[in-house]
Amino acid sequence: MRYGVLAKAYEELESTSKRLEMTDILVKLIKQTPVEILDKVIFLTQGKLHPSWLGLPVIGIAEKSAIKAVSLATGINIKIIDEKVKEIGDLGSAFEKFSTKKRQKTLISTPITVKRVYLTLDEIAQASGPGSADFKIRKLAGLLADVNKLEGKWILRTVLGKLRFGIADQTIMDALAIAFTGDKSSKPIIERGYNIHPNLGEIAKTLAKEGLSAIENMKIELFTPVRMMLAQRLSSIKEILEKLGGKCACEFKYDGERIQAHKSGKKVELYSRNLENATSQYPDVCELITQLKANETIVEGECVAINPESGELRPFQELMHRRRKYEIDDAIEKYPVCLFLFDILKKGKTDLIDFPYTERRKILENIVRENDHLKLATAIISDNVTEIEAFFNTSIESGCEGIIAKSIKNDSVYQAGARGWLWIKLKESYQSKMVDSIDVVVVGAYWGRGKRARTYGALLCAILDEKEQKYKTICKVGSGFTDENLAGFIEKFEKNKMDIKPPKVISIIKPEPDIWFEPKFVMEVIGDELTLSPTHTAGFNSIRQNSGLAIRFPRFIRWREDKSPADITTESEVIDMYNQQLKQISQ
Ligand code: ATP
Repeated sequence: MRYGVLAKAYEELESTSKRLEMTDILVKLIKQTPVEILDKVIFLTQGKLHPSWLGLPVIGIAEKSAIKAVSLATGINIKIIDEKVKEIGDLGSAFEKFSTKKRQKTLISTPITVKRVYLTLDEIAQASGPGSADFKIRKLAGLLADVNKLEGKWILRTVLGKLRFGIADQTIMDALAIAFTGDKSSKPIIERGYNIHPNLGEIAKTLAKEGLSAIENMKIELFTPVRMMLAQRLSSIKEILEKLGGKCACEFKYDGERIQAHKSGKKVELYSRNLENATSQYPDVCELITQLKANETIVEGECVAINPESGELRPFQELMHRRRKYEIDDAIEKYPVCLFLFDILKKGKTDLIDFPYTERRKILENIVRENDHLKLATAIISDNVTEIEAFFNTSIESGCEGIIAKSIKNDSVYQAGARGWLWIKLKESYQSKMVDSIDVVVVGAYWGRGKRARTYGALLCAILDEKEQKYKTICKVGSGFTDENLAGFIEKFEKNKMDIKPPKVISIIKPEPDIWFEPKFVMEVIGDELTLSPTHTAGFNSIRQNSGLAIRFPRFIRWREDKSPADITTESEVIDMYNQQLKQISQ
C-alpha cells in the first residue's frame, strides 16, 4: 500500500476533532489496509514503531537534523528552510510549501510504500554510535527525495513526534470493532484482549486473520505486560467497608513505583505503571525476582527506596534517582530499594487474574521467601472500623501513603486495565477538603513576571474526558515548584510547543495561555478544594449549568513520569470527588 493513503487519512484526521468522525476515518483506513501491514499502519498512526513495553528504540530525530535532511532532499538552502519553519511553525507544513519546487530525484527511486517508510524509520530509530547522526539524516533525505508534498509532510511530523491528531487507543479499538465485526458491540471483547495484551498492532492483525474468537481466547503471555488494575477512592473507612460488603483486606499503600515482573527461569523483565520497560533500571529487583519459588510467573508490587540499615521507607523523590540510564550500579548502592509484592497474575501455565483476591494472595505467599529487599505487602483482613483505623495509622507512621482496601468476595478478580470498586484507596488527609490529589496533564503556559521573567509563571492543566478522549482544563498551577523545577521549564516543554491550541484540548480560559502544549507531561497536584468555576471546562454542566470544576489554590506535588496522559485523573473521577467533598462537608 502506498504511504500516500496513510498521509491522506492523516490529513482527514487532522481536520476534525470529533471522535466519531475520527473513528469513521480509521475504519475506512483499516478496511483499505492489507493484513500483512495492518500492524505497521496502526503503530505509525499511534506515532510509534512498536509497543513501548518492548523497550526498543523509538522514532526520533532532532529538528535540526530533519532540516538538514530536507535540504539534502530538495536542494533548498538550510537557512531558507529554517526561516520557513519559523514563519509556519512546523517543518512538515514547511515541506509542503517547498515541494512545488523541483526536488532532486534519487537515481533509482523506489515507490513510497507504507512498508518502506516503516522500515526506513525503524532503521533510523535503531542507528546508534559514531556516525549515526549522519546516517539518520541521509536515510531520511533518501526517503524525502522520493515523496510528494503530502507524504513528506506526514513523514516529517512522524519523525519529529508531532502527529498532532493524537489518536487514543480507545478510538482505535472502536474502529477495529466496526471494521472487523460490523459494529461496536464486540468492543468489550477487544478491550479485554487489549488489557491482557496491550499491542494494538497485533490485536488488529489477529482480528483480521483469525476473527473475534481468537481475541476472546487470548491468554496472558509472559513478557507481554498486563494493563494494571487501579483503585477507586473514598474518604472514610466506614464508606469503604459498606462498599466492600462489611469485610475486606487492607494493605499498606506504599509510595514508590509500581512494578509488574515477568519471570521465566532466569529471564526477568520489569514493566512500569504505564507499561514502559523498566528492566535495565532495576537489575537488583530482577535478581530478587529470580529468587521466587516459581519457574514461570507474573507478580506485581511496589518498589520503594529504603534505608538499608534501618529498613525504613524513604520518600518517593528518593526513588526517582533510580530513573537513569547510566551509572546504574552507583544508583543501586546509593538508593537501595525494597519490592513489596501484593499480587500474582500468573503461575506456571495458570492465569490467575480470574481467581479471587484471597486465593491469589495465598499463592503469592507460597512463592515468596522474604528478605530485606523483598517482602509481601503488609496486610490484614478486617470488618472493624477501629482496627482498620489503627492499621491506617501504622501505615502512615511506616512512611506509606495510606491503605488500599481490597474486596475479598468471590468475584474479587484482578480487573486488568480498570479502575473499579474492588480496590479502594484511602490516603492521608492533606488537611484540605479535597479527598485526593489529582493527576493532570500540562496543556499550556503563561510567561512569568519578576523573578520568573525568563520562564513560565504558571502552567495550565487539564484532566481527561474519558468518553470523548479530550483534555479539559481544571486549574492554573503556579505554586509548589522549586527553583530547579522553574529553571527547567523551558527545556522540558520545548519539544511539546504547539502553534495553536491542540484539538484534543477543550478550553475557554481567558486570557488564553501564551503557549500551548501537546499534552504529554503529567503532574500530581493538590488544592484546598474543588470548586465550581465558569472558566474551566472539566465537568462542565455536570454539576451546574454553565459551570465547570476547578481546583482552588492548586499546588504542584511532583512530576509523574510513570504516567502518560491516558492515565491521568478522569472527568468522572473529578465529578465523584466533588460529590464526596460535599458529603464530607455536610457530615
Ligand atoms: P496514586 O496516584 O494514588 O499513586 P495511581 O493513579 O498511580 O495512584 P491508583 O489506582 O490510584 O493508581 O492507586 C494504586 C497505586 O498505589 C498502584 O498503582 C500502586 O502503584 C500503588 N500501591 C501501593 N501499595 C499498593 C498495594 N498494596 N496494592 C496495590 N497498589 C499499591
